Amino acid sequence: NGDKDSADFAVKSSSFPKFKEPELNENLGYFIKKKLRVWCQLKDGQWELGHIQSTSAETASVLLGNGSLVIASTGELLPANPDILEGVDDLIQLSYLNEPSVLHNLQFRFTHDKFYSKAGSVLIAINPFKKLKLYGNDYITAYRQKLMDSPHVYAITDTAYSEMMRDEVNQSLIISGESGAGKTETAKIAMQYLGALSGGSGGMDQKIYQTSSILEAFGNAKTSRNDNSSRFGKLIEIYFSATGTICGAKIQTFLLEKSRVVQLAQGERSYHIFYQICAGASSVLKEKLNLKAASEYKYLNQSSRLVVDNVNDAEKFAQLMEALNTIHLSEEDQQHAFEMLAAVLWMGNISFQVAENENYVEVLSDEACKMVASLLGCSLEDLILALSTHKIRAGKETVAKKLTLQQAIDTRDALAKFVYASLFEWLVEKINRSLVKGRWQSRRSISILDIYGFESFKKNSFEQFCINYANERLQQHFNRHLFKLQQEEYESDGIDWTKVEFEDNQECLDLFEKKPIGLISLLDEESNFPNGSDLTFANKLKQHLEDHPSFKGERGGAFSVRHYAGEVLYNTTGFLEKNRDPLQPDTIQLLSSCSRQLPQLFASNMQSQTPKPPSNGPGASELHRKSVGTKFKGQLFKLMQQLNNCTPHFIRCIKPNSKLLPGLYEKPLVLEQLRCCGVLEVVRISRSGYPTRVTHQEFAERYGFLLSEFGVTQDPLSISASVLQQFGIQPEMYQVGYTKLYFRVGQIGALEDTRKRV
Ligand code: ATP
Ligand code: MG
Repeated sequence: NGDKDSADFAVKSSSFPKFKEPELNENLGYFIKKKLRVWCQLKDGQWELGHIQSTSAETASVLLGNGSLVIASTGELLPANPDILEGVDDLIQLSYLNEPSVLHNLQFRFTHDKFYSKAGSVLIAINPFKKLKLYGNDYITAYRQKLMDSPHVYAITDTAYSEMMRDEVNQSLIISGESGAGKTETAKIAMQYLGALSGGSGGMDQKIYQTSSILEAFGNAKTSRNDNSSRFGKLIEIYFSATGTICGAKIQTFLLEKSRVVQLAQGERSYHIFYQICAGASSVLKEKLNLKAASEYKYLNQSSRLVVDNVNDAEKFAQLMEALNTIHLSEEDQQHAFEMLAAVLWMGNISFQVAENENYVEVLSDEACKMVASLLGCSLEDLILALSTHKIRAGKETVAKKLTLQQAIDTRDALAKFVYASLFEWLVEKINRSLVKGRWQSRRSISILDIYGFESFKKNSFEQFCINYANERLQQHFNRHLFKLQQEEYESDGIDWTKVEFEDNQECLDLFEKKPIGLISLLDEESNFPNGSDLTFANKLKQHLEDHPSFKGERGGAFSVRHYAGEVLYNTTGFLEKNRDPLQPDTIQLLSSCSRQLPQLFASNMQSQTPKPPSNGPGASELHRKSVGTKFKGQLFKLMQQLNNCTPHFIRCIKPNSKLLPGLYEKPLVLEQLRCCGVLEVVRISRSGYPTRVTHQEFAERYGFLLSEFGVTQDPLSISASVLQQFGIQPEMYQVGYTKLYFRVGQIGALEDTRKRV
């Protein structure tokens, strides 16, 4: 052990960048002799750099950078990259692609203020949490004219734009990462670049840019993880004319977090717009809507957090008004929208009282109740009735059943959530109308997807279930694309790519999607059962899916899914309710009876989406609309169809620390994200198959002299073939392409050995 002189691949990697040798075990001696660095895993799981001092049997003593000596089993050591590769732009350039090396390289760049890196074609963007002087017109020009080529959002956006113009193929920028990683900022930087490229868009680029601030006001909120967290997914498709100028756009949104309207975690806020309007509305508007300070509204003051550091809500409201004017939302429509916001705020202040010895509620007919009725344009009596009773059909008659306190609160909150979500949808529709103008002259598009990344918390609920399902789909898209790129490279060089193993996550997707036995179907089935509960749902999963390789039933109504990024434990509490997202017909009826335009519109949109409920039976009292899970699945299918018509470009955003501070790089947190967003997968895929690639010429020059009979006149391919034969390299370990030789991992070692000894 340890005395076998072996290849100096790492150091030679500048001339042989594609030679990769992950094997350390047989090369220990070489690492000692050359004082090469290794990674040593400590007890806490962290990797430290060090040098092997000596080896015995299965262990090695390693001198760490901090001067301490540790004994490690040789299996716990990994080769580190040589200094000359420190901080390379593209991770794939590393000789050794193990986790600590990847992590270290990104950290090295981070500490040198280089926040963008690449992993092959994937852009890795680490959130700097500080203003960078990397953006603006000078940089845009530099990237456009290819004067700069370091990794940047501008560079990848430019690639997409150029490919669109050259090949006339739609493109997509797929941005993912966890909350606070910088997805939305990155999307805006990409939009800024595209806007700058297309002068002469007649202000369309400005409009598109302004739509972001409108959607941020209505769809973003302060959470514990991000002061400006997007609580919805977004796809914006930007259209270009034949000459390459922006001529229109279309926005689709996914899964707005409605619960935030009525329920807040401590330290978090509801949607920005509520605080903005309370702080920034003109006195006329305030009077008209009888607006109070944010602290007066229960939906807002249930959390003690009413302001965001360094954010002026009143100023933001002024900016919002400007943005609404830019997209030409009429004065009237703006008024309507503000009325709905005020109505939602007042709904939260509606209170109930329970008569003594009774278990049903009365609605308190106070200011809040009157304001809601007046803002919606319905009668006070109708509102009170809708919030305190449900109509039930009994034979041919309908009778009003009085509600319990909890039922009344749920009904009120469901109304508030429905009005807000409908307002959001209406706004997106209005925005789309203002962006539609030049779409007819469009030839091609670039779609930018800004969607929540994979989530795994201590407690995971229905929201994580949906988000992770979406990420599983996007991951498949990602894998297939990367694999296709590899395949194309192999095929164009005449290589049989069927010998390349490829792990797909189809199995996990099947677990979610299969009908009738899949997570979503079973959830729907249980949601439709009158006696279904979260627990019966959990039991049903166990009963039907226990044999599925991606599924594990757990105790206490929980289950685990083996996702590509790791196993996630889901707690089924609340699953059925969230999937059903119940809405009473009485509520819709109330809204359709309103004299105001928007409530009417919201009600009719709902009715047009809803099949007629059965005339009797247990489900009769609730509207039968599509479950949230099934609706999301449909949206996701449509999204994937769209993305399948595009050439994708992937941007992975990484949050360097959870304190949202500049200059702090928390390794375990970063590693976890690299795993979740598939960067390590890129590295793995690029190593699978035949990672070592050398042109015939290079190979012949490097090893030709080792041949016992060295014919000078021979061509590089023949020389290469002779070398391979003389050294007994097994045919399944390499392939010969038109231009290059392709080797499996570890195959070059023996040749390098011999070459060294000669
Ligand atoms: P969420 O999933 O919660 O919406 P996100 O990934 O969209 O999160 P962003 O809102 O884009 O995250 O970024 C969070 C914060 O990080 C920003 O408000 C900003 O302060 C900072 N940030 C992100 N990207 C950059 C950047 N390129 N330069 C400077 N600051 C940035
Ligand atoms: Mg965001």
